[in-house]
Amino acid sequence: MSIGLYIHVPFCIRKCSYCSFASVPLEGGPVSGYMSALEREMEMRAALLPPGDRSVDSIYIGGGTPTCLSGDDLAGILERVFSLFNVAGGAEITVEANPGTVDGEKLKILKNAGVNRISMGVQACRRELLNILGRLHSYPEAEKSFLEARHAGFDNINVDLIFGIPGQSSRQWHECLEKIIDLEPDHISAYGLQLEEGTALSRMVREGALNPCPEDLEAEMYRDLIEILTARGYVHYEVSNFAVPGRFCRHNLRYWHNRPYLGLGPAAHSCLGGRRFANEPSLPGYLEKLAAGLLPVSWQEEIGPETEMSETVFLGLRLIEGLDVEGFRKRFGRSVDEVYPGEIDRLSGLKLVERADGRLRLTRRGLMLGNAVFAEFV
Ligand code: SF4
Repeated sequence: MSIGLYIHVPFCIRKCSYCSFASVPLEGGPVSGYMSALEREMEMRAALLPPGDRSVDSIYIGGGTPTCLSGDDLAGILERVFSLFNVAGGAEITVEANPGTVDGEKLKILKNAGVNRISMGVQACRRELLNILGRLHSYPEAEKSFLEARHAGFDNINVDLIFGIPGQSSRQWHECLEKIIDLEPDHISAYGLQLEEGTALSRMVREGALNPCPEDLEAEMYRDLIEILTARGYVHYEVSNFAVPGRFCRHNLRYWHNRPYLGLGPAAHSCLGGRRFANEPSLPGYLEKLAAGLLPVSWQEEIGPETEMSETVFLGLRLIEGLDVEGFRKRFGRSVDEVYPGEIDRLSGLKLVERADGRLRLTRRGLMLGNAVFAEFV
């Protein structure tokens, strides 16, 4: 069976105000130490996989800001992946890029290295909202980077957006969506802003320096997102993801189908061989373990059948087409109704899930209350 590879690059130019991801400042950061450690981890992981199990059909280089590394460093990472794993011809290879950290030359290097999908962290279109998020770029810079990626030959580009930013109005959100649609991205991911504990933004909200977006306004923005993008030809295929036909993100579909993946780099998570494990979250901890000749794992657990079934249901429900009921029965030898009779009856009674075409899926109402539905299966 093939796997997906996730590679975490932990460097960013500066920390965004809402960020709870594992990232450290690029300036003064141990980039060459990280590169050597990552290579070592790849070698150790590849050696642990039987040769027949080293097939990879998607690679996702995320972060952090992968594109704050040089084009040659990123190409070097991919070269090592190609030499250690059996990367399928036509594999989807994504690199996350932040506006202002790519130019025509770097993008060409990435293209020549085999990257065929760029995910651009645009997040917002107005200066004051980008400032609240602590982003470094302006919208014109984001547009420039997007067009440079097109010019370099990328025909599969995602744009990441955030809504529900303090002070953002419904009208501003519509304007932003129109600007983004004008760029004609192949894929759009849009998430409601999460105020994570310990971030600068959550502190500002707690101290009253910023008012959080009211819940009903955020729900309205989500409803409008779906309406506007689907009216403009995007397929809404996952709770927060939209694509032109044929451009669904294959790497992320692997997560939602609960299929195996291997994460490399600090804080990367894996789900492989009936186990889930996570790497050391801090860069020093990650480097230390590899320097000592150890795998950089910080915790791991066996995935029992109960856990695998529950994850398969709530991840499958994230897909707009829903969970393949017959596929579930074939995979686990039990029907979803047999395993979750009470939960499904209750959610159907509340009109949060429904059955259609051999699938169990969220209703329109369920889509607005997704987290409450998923929690039933955890
Ligand atoms: S660019 Fe992404 S990973 Fe880096 S600080 Fe900002 S949100 Fe966090």
